[in-house]
Amino acid sequence: MFIDKAKVKIKSGDGGDGAVSFQREKYVAAGGPDGGDGGKGGDIVFIIDDNFSTLIDFRYKKKYIAQKGQNGAAKNCTGKNAPDLIIKVPRGTLIRDAESGRVMADMSSNERQILAKGGKGGKGNARFATPTRQAPRFAKPGFLGEEYEITLELKLIADVGLVGYPNVGKSTLISVVSAAKPKIANYHFTTLTPVLGVVRFDDEKSFVMADIPGLIQGASDGTGLGHEFLRHVERCRLIVHVVDVSGTEGRDPKLDFDIINRELKKFSEDLSGRPQIAAANKCDLATDEQIEDFRKYISEKGINLHVISAATAMGTRELINAVAAELDKLPPVKEYEVEPLTKQELDERAGAGEKYNITAGDDGVYYIESAWLEHLIRTVDMDDYSSLQYFQRILRSRGIIDKLEQMGINEGDTVNIFGFEFDFVN
Ligand code: GDP
Ligand code: MG
Repeated sequence: MFIDKAKVKIKSGDGGDGAVSFQREKYVAAGGPDGGDGGKGGDIVFIIDDNFSTLIDFRYKKKYIAQKGQNGAAKNCTGKNAPDLIIKVPRGTLIRDAESGRVMADMSSNERQILAKGGKGGKGNARFATPTRQAPRFAKPGFLGEEYEITLELKLIADVGLVGYPNVGKSTLISVVSAAKPKIANYHFTTLTPVLGVVRFDDEKSFVMADIPGLIQGASDGTGLGHEFLRHVERCRLIVHVVDVSGTEGRDPKLDFDIINRELKKFSEDLSGRPQIAAANKCDLATDEQIEDFRKYISEKGINLHVISAATAMGTRELINAVAAELDKLPPVKEYEVEPLTKQELDERAGAGEKYNITAGDDGVYYIESAWLEHLIRTVDMDDYSSLQYFQRILRSRGIIDKLEQMGINEGDTVNIFGFEFDFVN
């Protein structure tokens, strides 16, 4: 199955927690703190794998979570960094942040991209020793990993895109100018998935051509196969617009040409502005008048026209030479620029992760709930005065103390955080 769109969640690994520990070796008097730092969490890394041609794997696996860094340990042992989680995608995959639609990476020439950085490890208690605090009973928890919902969109990489009505001979054309062997038959929508072909036009030079399912009037509203497949010619430098100049199906090639261009424009202004070469195919079946009529119409538009018969390879060599000459003048295949999230957006998201909830119970106890506090509390020894101070400093810096006061808390009232209770002192 050809799948070219997917939505998945990624989360880099949290950092390992710093350790609280004291030297215990024989003969070491009043052992000092020796809790090591936590290791870094794993990154989420995307790489291009040219063995892949669809995003089908992402239909089945929707969540990618990198491992947490190892916690620090006694004797100043730093926890191990977690391995990166490597995700393979086909070349041409565009990755966007689902929430904002921003481009996070274009996997077309950059072989390797870090999409989410693993959290740094927390510092062990050995780092918090000072002359006045010789036995710190707290360490820092690891930093949390980054979490994103992302969309993956495959946009094939080709220099030239073939567009046109179904059955006009697009697949026949690519099959005679390249080694690609798409299905060819005399009915509409024979081509159901895009096909790439490498066109070699002299010993060293080549370019890539993409054949996509045909368009019809109303494609932008979903008629036929819709314009879904146009994404695979969006990067193309040049469009070869194929028409059946003999009108075997009773349509007027001039009208076909305009209708398809209108559909292109509805899909994307950018794509419709791409340079075009018109290929009047099936000339073996057309009368001289039909060919002249079309030639006149196209030349008035200032578009380059080639009269061909793909089935007999007539005129296809000249068409390929003209395409190659035009490509020489055009900029390289389109790459999407990365649009990083602004600092404000990142802060807002981080802020969402720092949310907390305070409820005043009937028992006069103030209950605080928050994911990050639960995380923090793991590394604090509440029986230790300096640790408690450290903890309270954090509560204050996050605005929790202010909030408790607004709620009317009094000196001596009880605060409960995940089962741990202490008296409020200010
Ligand atoms: P696509 O839908 O645009 O990809 O069209 P196909 O390449 O599948 O061709 C549709 C039909 O037109 C097939 O039966 C082809 O054999 C036929 N065809 C393609 N090119 C020519 C041509 O130059 N002359 C004639 N007589 N038939 C052609
Ligand atoms: Mg086809």
